[in-house]
Amino acid sequence: MDSVFELFKIGIGPSSSHTVGPMKAAQLFATEAFSAKLLDRCCKVKVNLFGSLGATGRGHSSDKAVVLGLMGYLPESVDMSHAKQRLEDVLEYKKINLLEMKEVSFDFDKDVTLYANKFLDFHPNGMSFYIYDSQDKLLKKKTYYSIGGGAILSEDDISRKKLEKKIDFPFGFDSADELLEECRKNSLSISALMMENEKVFRSEFEIRSELLKIWKVMEECVRDGCSSTGELPILGVQKRAKSIYDRLSKKDGFSMIDPLEVMDWINLWALAVNEQNACGKKVVTAPTNGAAGIIPAVMHYMNKFLGNTFKEYDEDKIINFLLTAGAVGLLCQKNASISGADVGCQGEVGVACSMAAAGLAEVMGGTIEQVENAAEIAMEHSLGLTCDPVGGLVQVPCIERNAVASVRAVNAARMALNGNGSHFVSLDSVIKTMYETGKDMMSKYKETSQGGLAVNIVEC
Ligand code: SF4
Repeated sequence: MDSVFELFKIGIGPSSSHTVGPMKAAQLFATEAFSAKLLDRCCKVKVNLFGSLGATGRGHSSDKAVVLGLMGYLPESVDMSHAKQRLEDVLEYKKINLLEMKEVSFDFDKDVTLYANKFLDFHPNGMSFYIYDSQDKLLKKKTYYSIGGGAILSEDDISRKKLEKKIDFPFGFDSADELLEECRKNSLSISALMMENEKVFRSEFEIRSELLKIWKVMEECVRDGCSSTGELPILGVQKRAKSIYDRLSKKDGFSMIDPLEVMDWINLWALAVNEQNACGKKVVTAPTNGAAGIIPAVMHYMNKFLGNTFKEYDEDKIINFLLTAGAVGLLCQKNASISGADVGCQGEVGVACSMAAAGLAEVMGGTIEQVENAAEIAMEHSLGLTCDPVGGLVQVPCIERNAVASVRAVNAARMALNGNGSHFVSLDSVIKTMYETGKDMMSKYKETSQGGLAVNIVEC
């Protein structure tokens, strides 16, 4: 798992680890049961969600996501308006049509069980699927883990992974130090090195078009968020992006009478994405759904506010931004974690902030040392960030937190560009610190909604 496309994926909200991952795991389980010719004999299906999935699965719609996955829906292609009706039918008629091939009785309230206080060994986001025949004999059971950013691992993958050979990249690296060393030795920027590595999986043409597709979905998400009105589900918090957009766009372009107006725009773009995410709409996981607003917000800043430097919609800048950000994301994934349930929000918003700062620093002409410094500053000042979503919903504090982190990413990039690249704390040591801090964090601060803001909000 060393491709930037593992970090940037088109999916649905509200959560990559709690919605996208479970839906994929359920679809995979049903597909494997079909391949093993077990669907014909199946009369009953059950799902258990453990740990963080059990604690916040209702708020994140993990329970509904597994039902849709069992029916054959996938996050990248699901049409939610259609799927919603199918889900209501399942709840009302107490029947589920597995992969649209085998209808079995299914009582959502009894057949999907959430275990908030039971954690499986490998990862806090565990889930097990079971199918039975007409005699109640277990036909198949499988456990999967949603390990962050929508990625899943089955129990088989875990044992296989131990034996797996590493992919032979032209410029392999396991740390930021090694990445910079490879760049220096081969006179490559970070994005150019990442492009060469990505060619192990696909052609340059495909890499470029896939990255531009990712950017297009980010842009659409911002646009839709800027025109969406009403309240966020369940908590009833008023959406803010449209009113900010209406106010800012009344001005004649980017007038800059108030120099801090740029901050309003960055906030707006992040809020727009995260409000869409909270409503279960299409977003790009970057590297998670909870942190999906930061990279699009900073890229919009790049396109709109650095217009004198860059021509608007410069494809190379978009591609280089995403490749550089991807390098930092892969380092965090490899040497720490990008899962809020594993290491708190520092692994989601903190990592996205670090990725965005690196991407921006590179497209603004930073040296590889300045890019690494930008990523390091952004991560260093995200250390200790807990994950305590109110009501188990990716809304409070998540939406505002993306806006604040987007501004911080721009600040980190600019601060790094004002230096000469040499700095005291390395990116490797700050990633290591993030991981250790996350491991020391009590589980009530790691996406269980059992501590922090999640328990201190007084309902009016
Ligand atoms: S607090 Fe952070 S890690 Fe937790 S759900 Fe919100 S964005 Fe994700």
